[in-house]
Amino acid sequence: VHDIVILGSGPAGWATATACSKLGMNCALISANPETVWTNTYGGWADDLSPEIPVTVRWEKVLVQGNRSHVVGRTYVQLDNARLHEQLRSQFTGKEITATVETVIPVIPLKSHNEAGVGFTITFADARRKPIHSHIVIDATGGSTTLLDRPVRTGRPVLQTAYGVFGRIEGMPYPGAATLMDWTGPNHAAPSFLYALDYGNDHWLVEETSLAHRPGLSQNELRTRLETRLQKIGARIVSVQKTEEVSFAMDLPLPTIPQQIIGIGAAASVVHPATGYSVAASLRAAPKLAQALAKVIDIPTTASPSNPAEKSRPAWDTVWPADRLSARRLEHYGMERMLLMDQQLIRSFFDTFFSLPAKDIAIYQGGESSQAELAAVMWKVFSAAPFKVRAKLASGNPFKLARTLLGP
Ligand SMILES: Cc1cc2nc3c(=O)[nH]c(=O)nc-3n(C[C@H](O)[C@H](O)[C@H](O)COP(=O)(O)OP(=O)(O)OC[C@H]3O[C@@H](n4cnc5c(N)ncnc54)[C@H](O)[C@@H]3O)c2cc1C
Repeated sequence: VHDIVILGSGPAGWATATACSKLGMNCALISANPETVWTNTYGGWADDLSPEIPVTVRWEKVLVQGNRSHVVGRTYVQLDNARLHEQLRSQFTGKEITATVETVIPVIPLKSHNEAGVGFTITFADARRKPIHSHIVIDATGGSTTLLDRPVRTGRPVLQTAYGVFGRIEGMPYPGAATLMDWTGPNHAAPSFLYALDYGNDHWLVEETSLAHRPGLSQNELRTRLETRLQKIGARIVSVQKTEEVSFAMDLPLPTIPQQIIGIGAAASVVHPATGYSVAASLRAAPKLAQALAKVIDIPTTASPSNPAEKSRPAWDTVWPADRLSARRLEHYGMERMLLMDQQLIRSFFDTFFSLPAKDIAIYQGGESSQAELAAVMWKVFSAAPFKVRAKLASGNPFKLARTLLGP
């Protein structure tokens, strides 16, 4: 019987497994591909990551192009997936199991205290494998998880989609910079922007990105837009090293909190509704989650027989602190308003947003801000935005806007 089983070996799963094993817990990490280095290009803000997280490139010059050019006063980095994966793996002292999980069944407390204390049985898709038992289970299987209870999403998902090319590209503007967003271009009803990272020597990642849209844009559409855009700016793809296709939900409903299985990362909906980012948040959350788990590990499941999820509450509180839950309602509201904007309007919106001081931008994008901090930044954007943008931000029910900004 394990103390903790972590399901999934993305950044969230590995970070949690390592943090738990560092605290001496008897853990197992089960995943379809625990040894595989993540292939997604993970970017993030340097000040959101602890200094020991390895990065491949740091960009001090970060630009946003709207109707005007903006220099974002924060350093952007690309994570070094191979080194980070290796760092986490080498510090993990638990058992690494390659398998696909079929189900996680809570063990119903039956006889003695001790016997009942075993929380879960994990069964595998390959029925020849013997089930595994664990006191605690962490779901880090990403945004397609089916293991956590959550409300069913009504309607189609809001997707972030992107098509990217990494390779030698000549004639790119903004050399030496990370262009976080270039919103210039035709007035698409479903807007998209260029994300462009300069690696030096004419090596670039260029990605046509739809920040959030319902339904998501197709890869074909994004590829065509990227080609047209590059042609227009006079850039030419000389050779392609890899392409990247992005598609993930920005509006996965929050899981029921608390529940016996504990979630982290995209599985727990910790995906920022304004950016789609989750990796830095998972890396920060994992040690806190491990600390909370270390405190509850010895509590038998029978301690609250009428509500076994209570044992998981302190752990869930680190993944979704109460104040973050209210802040998320605001972030979600902001995302829904952005869905109403075409390319022209969203360009004006980001002109206003990126005219804010860097500290306000960080509050909105950071993913750890309180409801009060967020509301203050949103109010600043609302007050400074042009009338047409304001109309979208306040569209729908003004009472709902007030309630969202002021809390329940
Ligand atoms: C191409 C791309 C680029 C992105 N770029 C960024 C970025 O720059 N910055 C950022 O913060 N976010 C980015 N994201 C968004 C998001 O942060 C990532 O999706 C991130 O990988 C989520 O991490 P995670 O550990 O929660 O889940 P995942 O990385 O999805 O990991 C889930 C793991 O669980 C395993 N698994 C799933 N089901 C089972 C099962 N039943 N049994 C066993 N194992 C299972 C999978 O094999 C996988 O190993 C990007 C997403 C994509 C698709």
